[in-house]
Amino acid sequence: MALIVQKYGGTSVGTIEKIKKVAGRVARTRDMGNDVVVVVSAMAGETNRLLGLANQLSELPNERELDVVASTGEQVTIGLLSIALSEMGYPARSFTGFQIPVLTDSAHVKARIRNIEGATIQSALKKGEIAVVAGFQGIDETGAITTLGRGGSDTSAVAVAAALSADVCEIYTDVDGVYTTDPGICSDAQKLERISFEEMLELASLGAKVLQIRAVEFGMKYGVRIHVRSSFNDNTGTLVTKEEEIMETAVVSGVAYNKGEAKITIVKVPDRPGIAAKIFKPLSDANIVVDVIVQNVSVTGHTDLTFTVGRSDYKKAMMTTETVAKEIGADKVVGNDKIAKVSIVGLAMRSHSGVATKVFETLGAEGVNILGITTSEIKISCLIEEKYTELAVRVLHKAFGLGKPANA
Ligand code: ASP
Ligand code: MG
Repeated sequence: MALIVQKYGGTSVGTIEKIKKVAGRVARTRDMGNDVVVVVSAMAGETNRLLGLANQLSELPNERELDVVASTGEQVTIGLLSIALSEMGYPARSFTGFQIPVLTDSAHVKARIRNIEGATIQSALKKGEIAVVAGFQGIDETGAITTLGRGGSDTSAVAVAAALSADVCEIYTDVDGVYTTDPGICSDAQKLERISFEEMLELASLGAKVLQIRAVEFGMKYGVRIHVRSSFNDNTGTLVTKEEEIMETAVVSGVAYNKGEAKITIVKVPDRPGIAAKIFKPLSDANIVVDVIVQNVSVTGHTDLTFTVGRSDYKKAMMTTETVAKEIGADKVVGNDKIAKVSIVGLAMRSHSGVATKVFETLGAEGVNILGITTSEIKISCLIEEKYTELAVRVLHKAFGLGKPANA
């Protein structure tokens, strides 16, 4: 007998009919002799509706109160699902974040979990009940309700699984699992059987649609096996797990892309200690997240420095950078806000040579110019012009043999 945590997202509990289906699946898991803890999101669209109500009253609602409002969506679904289960003859008990409690910091709207008390849920399980837990919500030291950020129920589920040392955390969603790339771009993209936490984090742009990144970080830290699967069928999905549990030998697991990037270059930066800090401090002070940073080797006492930011931060970042550029005596600042980043990710890259060369040759053969390159141990990312994104993804996916065999 196993302890299974199941998380159902908004689309899986979007209507009463769907809640009944979820109850059916939970009941089946119970019938197989497992202890079951269910974590649910609000019904599809509900969190947006609640936030919209608050926004009708204020452009910038008080975040403490916003959390009070937004957290109610999950309270509705835990009650409804528990009723549905009881109706089917399965004793169930609902728990809000503060009843457990799920202790978080006080960063309203994006709180982080500090601790989950397992005893409350465990005593329900001991009585033979199914525990139904509200995702997304917690409570801070002062007793205020907090929420974990959009998509936060995934993190709730993985954290609950960690607190209870569950055997697996199943994340039920509207897709079958994690794919080798966006099936919208490559129709032959394949579902991955298994993927490591590390790869999943690096594939953020693919995976984030499926699983909140913070949930993956939590899983990695506490070694929680996460099974991402569809709530609309019984297919096994993708198991996100420790590297040791992965047998695959493919060099590359997936091709990810991110379109919304912008690139800023400072030309002829004086090459002196402390300059990079001078450039990036004002950006971090302005809460701008810098992604890729590339600096040339200096030959004449000057270097060119290029970095990328999210496109929505582009204007702010340009202004900030122009000011610093003047201060440090750089030549000029040039930018381009139509940049994409295409990445290949794979654990086996660590022990294979020639992977980078293959990426560059593949893009080169298609006339795709590489504007910047960064690598980590298990990832190679190229900055390219946004209009080439789909082409780059397609040729890389093919070059590394990730597509389904033609007649499979
Ligand atoms: N209901 C919350 C949201 O829509 C949390 C979640 O669904 O994971 O973001
Ligand atoms: Mg989600």
